[in-house]
Amino acid sequence: MLFCSDAKSGLKAIIAVHNTHLGPAIGGCRMWDYASADEALTDALRLSKGMTYKNALAGLPHGGGKSVIIGNAHTDKSPALLKAFAHHVKCLADRYVTAEDVGITSADADLMATIAPNVGGTSEAGLGDPSPYTALGVYCGIKAAAHHVFGNDDLTGKHVSLQGLGNVGFRVAEHLHRDGAKLIVSDVWEPSLTRAVDAFGATTISPEEAHRVPCDIFAPCALGAGLNRHTIPDIQAAIVAGAANNQLEQTTDGALLASRGILYAPDYVINAGGVIAVAEPVSASAHASVTRRTEAIGDTLSAIFAEATRTGEPTALIADRMAEQRFRG
Ligand code: NAD
Repeated sequence: MLFCSDAKSGLKAIIAVHNTHLGPAIGGCRMWDYASADEALTDALRLSKGMTYKNALAGLPHGGGKSVIIGNAHTDKSPALLKAFAHHVKCLADRYVTAEDVGITSADADLMATIAPNVGGTSEAGLGDPSPYTALGVYCGIKAAAHHVFGNDDLTGKHVSLQGLGNVGFRVAEHLHRDGAKLIVSDVWEPSLTRAVDAFGATTISPEEAHRVPCDIFAPCALGAGLNRHTIPDIQAAIVAGAANNQLEQTTDGALLASRGILYAPDYVINAGGVIAVAEPVSASAHASVTRRTEAIGDTLSAIFAEATRTGEPTALIADRMAEQRFRG
């Protein structure tokens, strides 16, 4: 754990390296207006642990880590702050690779990469913004879940509640719309809603309604901990499958979803497309390779769903066990 600060730029950040058994930790940087340093620390620890599981199950030669910058990405972010952060990242060059996450764009990653060699997801030395790959993986995961529950992966006419229309959520919406799904969208940022109505003829609802609206699939693509003992009883969808990290507030919430007969696509399995892209070595075939491996997320999920049906265990538990077998050897 590295606590970083720089009085001149106002930087306050935490870098958490959770596990390096499979290789240097990899995981993006989030900039968020945390209510307290404690809240930021909890987020960094939870997210870095999630990356260990995600990277192991995605078959990457990397452990898990994550960093958080405390501040409002719209008002507190500056080139000086990003550069100050990058100097701290550089100190961990043999142990941690960062990239973009909520509040950090690929342009920000490009700027940080001018200071630190251990920045992925850049346009110069990598595939750029990982969000399109994350969205592709989520789309493939939704199709795998639909196949498991409905007997085929045809999304025509299926109602999907998409919570969060950011870099990933909006692209997931594009995939689903192309397949003929009916979109019900929510976001706290009004312009994203207007964009989705114009582009997809989507129906809008408030973020608070997203999980409880009647639909076939609920896709959380905003922030974490949205699946908990308060929200799960209200979910009407047959499937929960979305991009957000750390969707379960507690481990037991996976069992709660299963007990209600809701198929949950474990978050770190379905949203691994981005880190697969960030970890990909530079080559002419990088895009094709990442696309192929991201599409395989659907197969990984199908295996988890089949095992859940066979054993009666929650999907989240099965995914955890598979990941632990890999990173603990
Ligand atoms: P983003 O910041 O571009 O988008 C997040 C969106 O959610 C924004 O439009 C924001 O206004 C909206 N939002 C915030 N709070 C909300 C609420 N309560 N209800 C509804 N909408 C709300 O972030 P992103 O890159 O699209 O990432 C989305 C999620 O996916 C995050 O949890 C992130 O950690 C996860 N994720 C992203 C990637 C990636 O490649 N970007 C990879 C893996 C996981």
